[in-house]
Amino acid sequence: MGATAQIQIVFHPTQLEHAPAREFLDGAWVDYLESPRRPRMILDALAQAQLGPVSEPDDFGLAPIRAVHADRYLDYLQSAYAKWIADGRSRDGVYPDTFYKPGFLHRSSGIGGQAGAYAFDLSAPITAHTWPAAYWSAQSALTAARLVREGAHAAFALCRPPGHHAHADLCGGYCFLNNAAIAAEYLIQSSTPMSGDRAQTRIAILDVDFHHGNGTQAIFYRRSDVLFVSLHADPDRQYPYFMGGSDERGEGEGEGFNWNYPLPAGTDDARYLATLDEACARIADFAPRYLVVSLGVDTFGGDPLGDFALTGDAFPRIGARLAQLRLPTVFIMEGGYAIEQLGANVAGMLGGFAKG
Ligand SMILES: [Zn+2]
Repeated sequence: MGATAQIQIVFHPTQLEHAPAREFLDGAWVDYLESPRRPRMILDALAQAQLGPVSEPDDFGLAPIRAVHADRYLDYLQSAYAKWIADGRSRDGVYPDTFYKPGFLHRSSGIGGQAGAYAFDLSAPITAHTWPAAYWSAQSALTAARLVREGAHAAFALCRPPGHHAHADLCGGYCFLNNAAIAAEYLIQSSTPMSGDRAQTRIAILDVDFHHGNGTQAIFYRRSDVLFVSLHADPDRQYPYFMGGSDERGEGEGEGFNWNYPLPAGTDDARYLATLDEACARIADFAPRYLVVSLGVDTFGGDPLGDFALTGDAFPRIGARLAQLRLPTVFIMEGGYAIEQLGANVAGMLGGFAKG
């Protein structure tokens, strides 16, 4: 369809400063995969593809973040590293060693207990630079959302750190603030309901990251104004293990507004695109006013964290399929760790959308 549309790209350089040295993966300490090289590679590829201009986000302050996350959790994220150091613990970052589980009776007020209560794994260590990076990542999401609310057909927030594993009061999986949820909630709160429609603005969130977006699902699980649809690795086999089953359909008012598509190891382009068709049909039925896409490319066959077999050709096709929904769309960057192909895969998806 005609000439390629431009997609405004939003990114703040402070997002590069969060750079933990290592993470615990498959029983070993490894170099931190969610590194500042990721956004650099993506920016290079987007510039080469001439997808659109890059701008820095505006500062919306804490209010739209508080609309999604618990105050005590936000206080923790901002103060944890200083408390951790004051307690004589490792300067490498806040790595909890003991995790709160249901049935435990004491809620510890010290930093060791807080760290284990507000994290669900060891891959979201908090350093001195984590809060500013996560804050500006969320502001990038908000700015992209506002661009779309003000009439852009699409915008891309190069969020990093990513967000879809973060719950209202939990960090994990490289995520601290749930950028997709913050963008969706902002769109709901800042948009007037459509004329003749008493219901709130409806938003669909489609998560195409390799991993289930457990945080996003949890945040909207009891809501009927946000449809959450996710294609991801079967949690019987892959992270985050404890959410992402096809039987999770929402609760209470939210029942029927959560759809998970767990997929097997080795999922190829054809299988993935066929499942994406089903997901897109659900979104079309829901008739949302906006689409928020949690854009992960760790579905790529060469990804060190994934076990799907998507080729580079799949990403423009995914983008083109999303464009067929004809919805104002906010793209929020999530995962993707095959560093050499990362930029091309992200540019491929956005380019496929722009051409669609
Ligand atoms: Zn992922």
